[in-house]
Amino acid sequence: SPAQPSEAACVFKSKLPEIPISNQLPLHTYCFEHLADFADRPCLIIGSTGKTYSFAQTHLVSQKVAAGLSNLGIKKGDVVMVLLQNCAEFVFSFLGASMLGAVTTTANPFYTSAEVFKQLNSSRAKLIITQSQYVDKLRETGENFPVLGEDFTVITVDDPPEKCLHFSVISEANEADFPTVSIDPDDAVALPFSSGTTGLPKGVILTHKSLITSVAQQVDGENPNLYLNPEDVVLCVLPLFHIYSLNSVLLCSLRAGAAVLLMQKFEIGALLELIQLHRVSVAAVVPPLVLALAKNPIVANFDLSSIRVVLSGAAPLGKELEEALRNRVPQAILGQGYGMTEAGPVLSMCLAFAKQPFPTKSGSCGTVVRNAELKVIDPETGCSLAHNQPGEICIRGSQIMKGYLNDDEATATTIDVEGWLHTGDIGFVDDDEEIFIVDRVKELIKFKGFQVPPAELEALLVSHPSIADAAVVPQKDNVAGEVPVAFVVRSNDLELTEESVKEFIAKQVVFYKRLHKVYFVHAIPKSPSGKILRKDLRAKLAAASPVP
Ligand code: AMP
Repeated sequence: SPAQPSEAACVFKSKLPEIPISNQLPLHTYCFEHLADFADRPCLIIGSTGKTYSFAQTHLVSQKVAAGLSNLGIKKGDVVMVLLQNCAEFVFSFLGASMLGAVTTTANPFYTSAEVFKQLNSSRAKLIITQSQYVDKLRETGENFPVLGEDFTVITVDDPPEKCLHFSVISEANEADFPTVSIDPDDAVALPFSSGTTGLPKGVILTHKSLITSVAQQVDGENPNLYLNPEDVVLCVLPLFHIYSLNSVLLCSLRAGAAVLLMQKFEIGALLELIQLHRVSVAAVVPPLVLALAKNPIVANFDLSSIRVVLSGAAPLGKELEEALRNRVPQAILGQGYGMTEAGPVLSMCLAFAKQPFPTKSGSCGTVVRNAELKVIDPETGCSLAHNQPGEICIRGSQIMKGYLNDDEATATTIDVEGWLHTGDIGFVDDDEEIFIVDRVKELIKFKGFQVPPAELEALLVSHPSIADAAVVPQKDNVAGEVPVAFVVRSNDLELTEESVKEFIAKQVVFYKRLHKVYFVHAIPKSPSGKILRKDLRAKLAAASPVP
């Protein structure tokens, strides 16, 4: 559990002044607060078709969806699962649910059936909005599995398969049917899943207040951390099911009046064409996308001169890569944001994006957002550290999660009694208040910014009849950043091969959780209390090749 905070905590704050934040409003009201200023401007642009929804239309369809969901029995506090690639319906569903006081749990549509059901069971979602191609995953039957049509309703945004409804059932409802609900700032609005610092994926309760605070910290006020304006076209290629895209791309753009260019999936040629065609000015990316933009030769064939800001987040961005991208888009300001789902998610942002910018060093993750406190603690003693000393980063403020869903123990080990959220990231704050992340002490593996929780793979591995014990750790990878590799103790079957173990896992998980290597060992190193000594295994990987 988190160490107790020291008395004389050294607390870091933003270099920008604090701002008033309207975080007593419901999230959708806050996002559309300035609707009258840009009602007819483009809000959502569908990349594949060019279809555009204005702010007024987006607001209206979201209200209709709220009415439609209500007609289907969705009430305040109910959970709706959105299992969609990026599309306008994703946005309408999220906002419509918010208007009803319902909660959206976002899941990766590429998840396997087992992964979707884990989230469905844990979140108790009553209704799923998805694409017809994913419906087969929802037909799993068996003991203890919720049943489509009985325990939950399925709506598809395209032709509905048997027992499913079409999205028009909700999007064409009469917005006047939409009931008035009273929403408390501490009510949940989003429920993304994250494994946090340890264990299995858990529902992260983000309230209206947390998301408003986080959006305001980024885009509100005279000199916002991330200056967006109604002329901006913001690239939304990162999946909206991840809070980075949902918050920093979608919600921030809605609030600021900027247009969001929705791309269903990443494909470099199509991406470049869309940037050129729609004159994208703000690109939110992750390091593997930076790699593609920096290194792919076809980039030279496109006009990227409209880009003024490139924001990278979700995983560390190497200096060399940053430099390579700088050569491709010399006019753009490049910088990083640092986030964690549980933190709402943004902890810090590059201040070179501000309206009156600050110079920023390469490799820095920016400065802590406004109206928040950040400290760096010694992981052993819990004492807070001064400038330039690396330790675990902790954050406090109204933007952080309320807690994990139905998991008080995990909540208490992540948010301490003084309200500090412990990130499991190691970093320091330099003399210019810039944050540098240098390591991660939590278990989490990040493949191209996607979460790979080792505990999930370990639980699957030990469910194999021929595996006695297992541990999964990250291995560095030039393209993905990190890939999961397993150390496995065979139980008796000496014939058990690396391939069969990899296959066993691959069948059960989404592509980025697949094992890249399996090492057979005699025992997994553990502490006297039985905790896997992950550091030892990581060191073993780093030191030896091939690994014993
Ligand atoms: P998630 O909850 O999926 O957003 O993952 C959060 C984790 O991603 C953080 O705790 C960090 O370990 C990592 N992360 C996010 N942004 C950055 C960044 N700019 N640099 C380094 N690591 C990052």
